[in-house]
Amino acid sequence: MTSGSLIQQGVGRFAPSPTGDFHVGNLRTAILAWAWARNSGRSFVLRMEDIDRVRSGSADRQIADLKAIGLNWDGTILVQTTRSAAHTQALDYLVEQGYAFECYCSRKDIKEAASAPHVPPGHYPGTCLNLTDTEREVRRRQLAELGRTPALRLRAPASEWTVFDELHGSFTGPVDHFVLRRADGVPAYNLAAVVDDGFQHVAQVVRGDDLLSQAPAQAALATLLGIAVPTYVHVPLALNEAGSRLAKRDGAVTLADLYELGWTTEDAVEWIGRSLGIDGARTAIDIADALPIDSLRALPLDPWIVTPPTGLPAF
Ligand code: GLU
Ligand code: ZN
Repeated sequence: MTSGSLIQQGVGRFAPSPTGDFHVGNLRTAILAWAWARNSGRSFVLRMEDIDRVRSGSADRQIADLKAIGLNWDGTILVQTTRSAAHTQALDYLVEQGYAFECYCSRKDIKEAASAPHVPPGHYPGTCLNLTDTEREVRRRQLAELGRTPALRLRAPASEWTVFDELHGSFTGPVDHFVLRRADGVPAYNLAAVVDDGFQHVAQVVRGDDLLSQAPAQAALATLLGIAVPTYVHVPLALNEAGSRLAKRDGAVTLADLYELGWTTEDAVEWIGRSLGIDGARTAIDIADALPIDSLRALPLDPWIVTPPTGLPAF
């Protein structure tokens, strides 16, 4: 491949969890992910992260909303629950390489031990990090008697990792011995996302900036798995007027809510466009066309404070 080819540029993606209907903030993130991919010559894939907290019917409604606002994607949608063999394979590899260890702690154990002075707030206290084989055998048996199985945690290769974010620049954050497989056997979000990004050849991760703090850990894990670390673009979230994350209870914030007020899909897109400083955009294409890469890079990092409408659009 010659330099600058589409393959070499890698793939962009949007990876929602089907936990409910999208609000306009989620749709804005999707449009930005699509615009970043499109305007940097990348293909764009979609992945449904359905291994946790799924609400029935919501994946279909999310997909319908993305189509309605004019987004498209390459190939078929990757459904994360179909990937469990690959997740297990990655977990096995990490165990074999000594990059993962079993953790027998309950939530209470961690809370109690984590208040020790040498443990950074919120971090794993290291209880099961360096147990002998005999100790592990004993703990495993104790847990089995309680009907529980151990979690798997990453043996963090470094306490910190640095990633590159198009908006936040070089970003360094803690890695921690984070959970790779939960005690109920389900792969953790961080493991599944990294493995599946690798599988989908994702080179550009655009998502809400609530996940910026996870990027160093994910990049560290990708490196251990031999997966190329993507470039990140953590875009500002939509917040309500009280400054909390936008939610359905805040008012008319989903397409379905807006339709009930008499809005069209195009009106909703125009509203999202206006939040990005663009007037009169009626489809996602209009927004992407108005935001070449330099403009995408220059978008402000402030959250979008959303005032839900109570009637027809004012613009
Ligand atoms: N599925 C995650 C969410 O909806 C996003 C994961 C990601 O973009 O890495 O919050
Ligand atoms: Zn433990």
